[in-house]
Amino acid sequence: MRQKIVAGNWKMNKTFQEGLDLVSAVLENGEEPRGLVVFGAPYVHLQAVAQLLKGQKNYRLAAQNCHQEEKGAYTGEISADMLVSVGADFVILGHSERRQYFEEGSAMLAQKTDLVLQKGMRPIFCCGEPLGIRESNTHVQYVAAQLKESLFHLNEFDFAKVVIAYEPIWAIGTGRTASSDQAQEMHAAIRALLAEKYGAAVADSTSILYGGSCNAQNAQELFSMPDVDGGLIGGASLKPDDFRAIINAM
Ligand code: PEP
Repeated sequence: MRQKIVAGNWKMNKTFQEGLDLVSAVLENGEEPRGLVVFGAPYVHLQAVAQLLKGQKNYRLAAQNCHQEEKGAYTGEISADMLVSVGADFVILGHSERRQYFEEGSAMLAQKTDLVLQKGMRPIFCCGEPLGIRESNTHVQYVAAQLKESLFHLNEFDFAKVVIAYEPIWAIGTGRTASSDQAQEMHAAIRALLAEKYGAAVADSTSILYGGSCNAQNAQELFSMPDVDGGLIGGASLKPDDFRAIINAM
């Protein structure tokens, strides 16, 4: 059976103390989640958040990026080994903001995916189309190409550790959510593509998250769709009550 996952992506928000307060508030205020909850915290918060999550059964830690090279003269960058050494379980890769503002393309993302897996962490691999592609009704082909180009070199064993996050760019941070039918259409298409490449068992057990203005009000409906296995949450993951409500919708 595939895992339900709700992952928060804080992006460049929250000071160190604000971040720790947020995690504490989420941990204190709820029942045990029905799936995994992942905190995608900024690099400098990771070690301290890992301490807060020690002994927690259903909570995990994610970094929001890592460099594609193992080590070396890359001033200001963070390596996969560094992330492992502070307790990261997941790394968010290929977020549309990284693709857009930092020019991360498919080949670089394939390298990052390999490194993250090699170091024993799990990628949360983001894909999703811009508005123009959606309007030209080529969104399924567009997302399929993103997945093929960065993930389909993986063998079945490695691919089984990947979490996919479908995030239509026109829905990220815009307040405009994909409808549950639009999300389901894409998630089902992704799962069909995975079945073609890796077989039905792998496709069935891959968690495919929806991201894009998912919030406390619409999470339940989105998560009720058969191929939506949870969410990657930006803005609403910064507010403990909202994030908790989304966790409870899993
Ligand atoms: C995101 O950036 O991954 C995201 C889904 O953001 P938001 O929830 O704010 O749309």
